[in-house]
Amino acid sequence: MRKDGTRFWANVVITALRDDAGTLVGFAKVTRDLTERRLAEQQAIATARRLAQSEQANQVKASFLAAMSHELRTPLNAIAGYADLLISGIGGGVTDQQQQYLTRIKSSQQHLLSIINDILNFSRIEAGQVTYDIRDVPLARVVDAVIPMIEPQAEAKGLHLVHSHCDGLHVRADRAKLEQVLLNLLSNAVKFTEPGGSITLSCEQRSAMVAIMVTDTGIGIPPEEIGSIFQPFIQVGRTLTSTQEGTGLGLAISSDLAQAMGGELTVHSAEGEGSRFTLMLPVARDAAP
Ligand code: ADP
Repeated sequence: MRKDGTRFWANVVITALRDDAGTLVGFAKVTRDLTERRLAEQQAIATARRLAQSEQANQVKASFLAAMSHELRTPLNAIAGYADLLISGIGGGVTDQQQQYLTRIKSSQQHLLSIINDILNFSRIEAGQVTYDIRDVPLARVVDAVIPMIEPQAEAKGLHLVHSHCDGLHVRADRAKLEQVLLNLLSNAVKFTEPGGSITLSCEQRSAMVAIMVTDTGIGIPPEEIGSIFQPFIQVGRTLTSTQEGTGLGLAISSDLAQAMGGELTVHSAEGEGSRFTLMLPVARDAAP
């Protein structure tokens, strides 16, 4: 105990003092205040315990979501299957109006399925259950794979889609996941750009990193919302229960994937003018400066 009555952790060393003849003449006492060190140790233990608990909670949440998603997909597939059977007329003829209703059932089924797939995908990434096959990836091949997938949607909406400066650049990445991120960014650009606008996929080496940019001339993102769009389930100006396309998980998934591949995903946007999403990835080993 200190003189003022407060308790503290201490290390006390008492040494016997003897004269030349070996006779005990007294004691020397050295007291070291260990309070700070003890407190730091206790804090570290508490933090580690909290981390372990939240890790465990995350795992439980992820496996619950994975199991739920799986259970939901089975009946959803049955709904699509029976709707297809009715549409094909195997069970008897259907009127034009019934055909229309069935088509709506199918498109709602597909929407719900894509939400469930997003949730499953996100929960797996968050739980660290996703493995990455990191290699040197030529960006020209990635561009060749993603552009044809997005072209029909861009064309249908009257958007001008261009790509530039990606040939000859190589990054360290998991190719399938890189394509997934770019497809998500490109389909967002299509979704949030009015007809007549343009979307550009471009690349640029910046010392040890490569920037892959998806730029659109779309509606843009208000400054007060920009900080939250990478959070799960965030959709600017929309609520979770709204019927519009999307789950608000695409950017959260893309950002997680970018970080897991040693990169990052950032955005610059001006409301009414457009947005630019930049995916930074490490340059391929051979091409490193
Ligand atoms: P989703 O597209 O499924 O709604 P995302 O996570 O991909 O979810 O995007 C979250 C939100 O960020 C979108 O709902 C939209 O409000 C905003 N956003 C994303 N990309 C763009 C873009 N290119 N232009 C404008 N807003 C965008």
